[in-house]
Amino acid sequence: MAEGGVVVLSGAGLSTDSGIPDYRGPSGSARRSTPMTYQTFTRDPIARRRYWARSHLGWRTIGQAAPNDGHRAVARLQEQGLLDGIITQNVDGLHQAAGARDVIELHGNLARITCLDCGALTPREEMGGRLDAVNPAFAGVAIAFNADGDAELADESLDGFTTVDCLDCGGMLKPDVVYFGETVPADRVQRSFELVESARTLLVLGSSLTVMSGRRFVLRAVKHGIRVAIVNRGVTRGEPYASLLIDAPLGIVLPHVAAVPTA
Ligand SMILES: [Zn+2]
Repeated sequence: MAEGGVVVLSGAGLSTDSGIPDYRGPSGSARRSTPMTYQTFTRDPIARRRYWARSHLGWRTIGQAAPNDGHRAVARLQEQGLLDGIITQNVDGLHQAAGARDVIELHGNLARITCLDCGALTPREEMGGRLDAVNPAFAGVAIAFNADGDAELADESLDGFTTVDCLDCGGMLKPDVVYFGETVPADRVQRSFELVESARTLLVLGSSLTVMSGRRFVLRAVKHGIRVAIVNRGVTRGEPYASLLIDAPLGIVLPHVAAVPTA
């Protein structure tokens, strides 16, 4: 650690202390609904409307989440010049909220809305305000919500929810996040591979590496003889590749790492 050259790969487990559940990890309950796919979102107007109703509620929680000691420790390590890069699978923007810079957001960011027709990017707050304005009586109660901002909601609460379209072109709006069934943009993946290949250590934080989207970076590191260290609560699929594996809460371990950088 002390020699620097560390690239961080973070996952949902880093944000659980901020109140955002990790639906794959040990602390999260198994999600009750199938995650939204790109195909369903774009082709099924009813599913899309229900998605927006749930996501609108989910955002009330995720949008208010604050970074925790783990995010702050990563930002401090970067400030100390020990990090060559930060790659995150999270869409909550909490690395940046803690002061980190140049974060590669593999799966996008819920705080941005993109137009699928003209590509315009707008802030989530603006979308939230527009949805509130056209749904003055919407009083849906979220039962639970997931790390991707998709809240669980009784179907009857979704009746009558109205969505809005792009102000510029009237096109379809979607949170600027990568859905199931969607691929991460190639340039983002390429930049991430380049970072990993030039690292001394790949430090995996709070990712069970269940999906190939994250695991491929560990496999690439191993292929290039780069050390892999994992701090994660519970089982991780990266275990066979790790030269250091710490199963402990990130909010407790990371501040120590950042304060006393040792190899
Ligand atoms: Zn548009």
